[in-house]
Amino acid sequence: MLPLLSLLALSAVVTSVPSALALVSSGPRDVESLFRRQTAIPEVGSAEWVALYPAAGSTPTTVPQAWTDALAAAVAAGKIPDLPPATLTQGYPSYSNNLDPAGPVACHNTRGCSIASDKLVAPDGMIGISQDDGPLPPGRTLNSFFEAQKINATHFYIGGNVLGNYDIFLQARAIPGQHFAVHTWTHPYMSSLSNEGVVAELGWTMQILADSNYGKIPAHWRPPFGDVDNRVRAIAKEVFGLQTIIWGVERDSEDWTLTNLDNEEAVKATITGFLEGPKAPGMIMLQHELSDRAVNAFITLWPSYLSNGWDCRTIVRQNTSPFSLCFPS
Ligand SMILES: [Zn+2]
Repeated sequence: MLPLLSLLALSAVVTSVPSALALVSSGPRDVESLFRRQTAIPEVGSAEWVALYPAAGSTPTTVPQAWTDALAAAVAAGKIPDLPPATLTQGYPSYSNNLDPAGPVACHNTRGCSIASDKLVAPDGMIGISQDDGPLPPGRTLNSFFEAQKINATHFYIGGNVLGNYDIFLQARAIPGQHFAVHTWTHPYMSSLSNEGVVAELGWTMQILADSNYGKIPAHWRPPFGDVDNRVRAIAKEVFGLQTIIWGVERDSEDWTLTNLDNEEAVKATITGFLEGPKAPGMIMLQHELSDRAVNAFITLWPSYLSNGWDCRTIVRQNTSPFSLCFPS
């Protein structure tokens, strides 16, 4: 950690976002300095707070110089694979140089390739409770349920939604045991973005969460659509210190379909099948706070999580590192 005066001196480097401190980063150990601000953060929800971030739903176009410098340092150090952005066709990636998306160079998750540091499963017997795409209005009921049942959950939040639905974020923040993680600013196919685009999507979401959650810098992110390749993984890790958390193979609850379809019973049957299935390895399931139906499916099935013997209470960051989807209650 650099002394405060050194950090302040370096702040003169910042141009595009004066309130952030600049520090050339050589890796994750410098992440704290990428998100520290010189002045107190305005009250969450105030006009001054809103003005600190890109508009909700808009693709970020500027970033603090410190993030640009950190990316450049990582590239210069050879830590970011020199892959072209992928082209997505109905969600399936391809590369302009005919690189195999499933091969070890690109290693695209949606083509069945993952690396050791990706988290798709939990330790044996354990389930990582996670909810994506919020904060959104259906999350109010979900958060109340988490509070009442003392459920520790990871919220993979969209940065723009934190901005637009800050009251729901504040509700979740006030509940013990909640864990906030990054789900990008606009929910794009990340492998299709330039290096700079990846930095902006991750960085701004980290910034709003850190600013608004007592300075706690997120350490985990989940790629929207599971869309991540080795280039995007490396930017997340080497620039921002983020670990990539996905979900288990064939562990998509498909509760996202409930936004448009009235097939709650089918989704419940899918989830029930997962809960009654094997516990080795443990499970990370894909679930969302996108709709009242999706939230209702989770709530009504919660007794099955318990009766099937899943353990969400004993996953401790220190002894299962780097897995930490749930915190101890
Ligand atoms: Zn999502």
